[in-house]
Amino acid sequence: MYRAPLEELRFVLEELLGIGQLAACPALCDYSDEVGASILEEAARLAETVLDPLNRTGDREGARWTPDGVATPKGFKDAYRQFVEGGWQQLGTDPRFGGQRVPQPLSSAVGELWGSANLAFQLCPMLTHGAVHALEACGSAEQQRLFLPKMTSGEWTGTMVLTEPQAGSDLAQVRTRAKPDGNRYRLFGQKIFITWGDHDYTDNIIHMVLGRIDGAPAGIKGISLFIVPKVLVNSDGSLGERNEVRCVSIEHKLGIHASPTCVMQYGHDQGAVAHLVGEPNRGLEYMFIMMNTARLAVGVQSYAVGERAFQQAVEYARTRVQGRPPGAGAAESRTIIHHPDVRRMLLTMKSSTEASRALAFYAGQQLDLAAYHAEAAVRTAAQARGDLLIPIVKGWSTETANEVAAIGVQVHGGMGFVEETGAAQYVRDVRITTIYEGTTGIQANDLIGRKIGRDRGAALGALIADMRRELQALDPSGIAPRETRDAAVQGVSSLESATRSLVSNLSTAPERALAVSVPYLKLCGLVISGWLLAKSAAIAAQGRGSLGKGFYQAKVRTAHFYAKQVLPQAMGLEKIVEEGAVSVVDTEPERV
Ligand SMILES: Cc1cc2nc3c(=O)[nH]c(=O)nc-3n(C[C@H](O)[C@H](O)[C@H](O)COP(=O)(O)OP(=O)(O)OC[C@H]3O[C@@H](n4cnc5c(N)ncnc54)[C@H](O)[C@@H]3O)c2cc1C
Repeated sequence: MYRAPLEELRFVLEELLGIGQLAACPALCDYSDEVGASILEEAARLAETVLDPLNRTGDREGARWTPDGVATPKGFKDAYRQFVEGGWQQLGTDPRFGGQRVPQPLSSAVGELWGSANLAFQLCPMLTHGAVHALEACGSAEQQRLFLPKMTSGEWTGTMVLTEPQAGSDLAQVRTRAKPDGNRYRLFGQKIFITWGDHDYTDNIIHMVLGRIDGAPAGIKGISLFIVPKVLVNSDGSLGERNEVRCVSIEHKLGIHASPTCVMQYGHDQGAVAHLVGEPNRGLEYMFIMMNTARLAVGVQSYAVGERAFQQAVEYARTRVQGRPPGAGAAESRTIIHHPDVRRMLLTMKSSTEASRALAFYAGQQLDLAAYHAEAAVRTAAQARGDLLIPIVKGWSTETANEVAAIGVQVHGGMGFVEETGAAQYVRDVRITTIYEGTTGIQANDLIGRKIGRDRGAALGALIADMRRELQALDPSGIAPRETRDAAVQGVSSLESATRSLVSNLSTAPERALAVSVPYLKLCGLVISGWLLAKSAAIAAQGRGSLGKGFYQAKVRTAHFYAKQVLPQAMGLEKIVEEGAVSVVDTEPERV
């Protein structure tokens, strides 16, 4: 049974990041910690009582293709109705279209609750959110009027439609064709792997589709973004005829069974009616607006599954009796949580999840400062930092969450490998998070190419300087917080040294930089989150907040564990970044 970690969420939001201060930005002036806490409590209720009970049943039943459209598993449609009636789709969107603006870290915290309770369910609102953001930023006034109020409320859902059989990571290969037809277009093409591309929740689904206008240049410079409604929308907002949009089949997958992954056919006769978003050939740029929020959200959903896997593992470890731990009597068996190695596994799960959460919320805070802060210089610096952190949140947190879920199975022993306990579902569900919205390799390319290469490490250099300055200024009381800080300082040095080597290779031997891009991304994730956990430990050691002594003590212990058993990997990764490329570069493709 899932329990929302409300104390932990409040600690990160209020005590570590102080997001209440964002209320100084006019766009967020209605926000306060009290508002945040009450939103979280309400969200926790829906997550625990409505979405969580459908997690296992949805996994077993799965979404079903029918000739009339995709049928969702029992209970999902009603859960979605409750979700919409509660106003949850509106959270974090533009008030001009009926939304409620809140700080991004709070949106992420609420997204975490949905993701922990039911990842398959969460994907539909998450993608709608991404589509809403893209239209808020790039849609025409008429498109915003027609589509945004109903998408913002959740009356209609949205999708993100990029992938084609020959165009996965490489979107330059997109072939879907857009034929001009008066002031609109007719689309022809097949797309694969479209999450929630069809379902029985709502009367309409608004597809955000990448296509190529006839005569457009080859490659990414010829891709445009289109709005393609499942049902055409009349100018008064009412529903018209069915568009040429069809779900041809759905995939049978390793996990997230309740989330339909659709093969979509756009246009089979006259072509699907499509409305161009913004200017022709700038589609990928617009899609990136959606992808940035989606990438942050995928990082959040991955550790959300990790949180859930941890909760289940710790519960199992408190009840399963096996073996005699040190200090127990000769014939005395105890629950497995008394074995040091089981506690090591649990602390790895817990600390990695806390680290990922802190990192994701910090990245979200930067995006808020970039969007809403009054001073231009602050906005620019925060945008650079937010952009830098997005591939790290997506790449590192998802890889870490896969390890966390796998450890969850290990804690259960053999019972983890059978489906009855549910631990296996988390491994299956979380597996997709390193793949969609850009694989880990693609995130690492983005990190070292666009985010480090373009400014030659300037944005990261500024972050390293801030981390070092803050760690030096910390004066934690107690040995554990001090050791946690010292380990974080050491981690920052590893990152600095590895970055120097990477930046030098980027200009002289890019293949070498690419050969260690994922280890470098992991190094970034470990060290930046290590800094945030060191700050957390110092704050918790003071215990000045209202969250209770037990919570603060556990926080200090968990951060200390991270510093001692997880963060030291940073030194190994530094060595890999500095010396490991050669073994990859020297291995010819035919010798692998
Ligand atoms: C369940 C599910 C849901 C999805 N939902 C959606 C959706 O809603 N909308 C949508 O448009 N798509 C969706 N996708 C598609 C998803 O985004 C792609 O599968 C993903 O981007 C990877 O593309 P690919 O599968 O073609 O793999 P490939 O691109 O063929 O990659 C295969 C491997 O090669 C590596 N690789 C490829 N190119 C490079 C490179 N340049 N540098 C380094 N390594 C590289 C990759 O990292 C990967 O390990 C979904 C996929 C799944 C499975």
